[in-house]
Formats: sequence, C-alpha cells, structure tokens
Amino acid sequence: MPEAPGCAACQAPAEVQWRRKSVADPTHLDAVYACALHAIGLDAAAHIHQTTCTAPDPAHVPACNCTPTVQPQDPGVSPTVTLTTGWVVSGPTP
Ligand SMILES: [Zn+2]
Ligand SMILES: [Zn+2]
Repeated sequence: MPEAPGCAACQAPAEVQWRRKSVADPTHLDAVYACALHAIGLDAAAHIHQTTCTAPDPAHVPACNCTPTVQPQDPGVSPTVTLTTGWVVSGPTP
C-alpha cells in the first residue's frame, strides 16, 4: 500500500498540494505536497510552479521564490451554468 504523501519540508501529513514543472522534463508536472504550516497560498497553489521553485521553503512560505504560471484549463471540465432554479447544468460548448 503506498504511503500517504508527506510535507516536502517537514514530512508531516500533507494538507495542500500543488504542481510544479518537473526538472527532468518541464512538460511534465510533479505534485508537491505540504502541511498546513508550510503550505503556500491558495492562489499560488492553483498555479503551476517553475522548475526552480523551492516551495515549500520555510524561508518563503506562504509565498515561493518563483513566478507561477496560470494553470491551463482542464479540457475534461466543461463550463457550467447555474439556472435561476438553482440547477447547475453544462454550459454551451464553444
Ligand atoms: Zn511541513
Ligand atoms: Zn513557486
């Protein structure tokens, strides 16, 4: 059974995860885990971090030392529309 991922800074159980470009292959994204103490901000965690990013680095949290790029839209998730009835339906496909 695979072990649950731990914080990259202190090995505590991870509570936050974000993605960083792999040093070996920048087209590949590595998952980075952190505990609540070493977590980066929610905004930063929603972005993709550079290969040079050292987060979770206790010297930088809750920020990091790179300029993360905006995450590309996941093609598997289609936009939704909330109707006046409260129903959420798939939005129009572009
Ligand atoms: Zn930690
Ligand atoms: Zn970063």
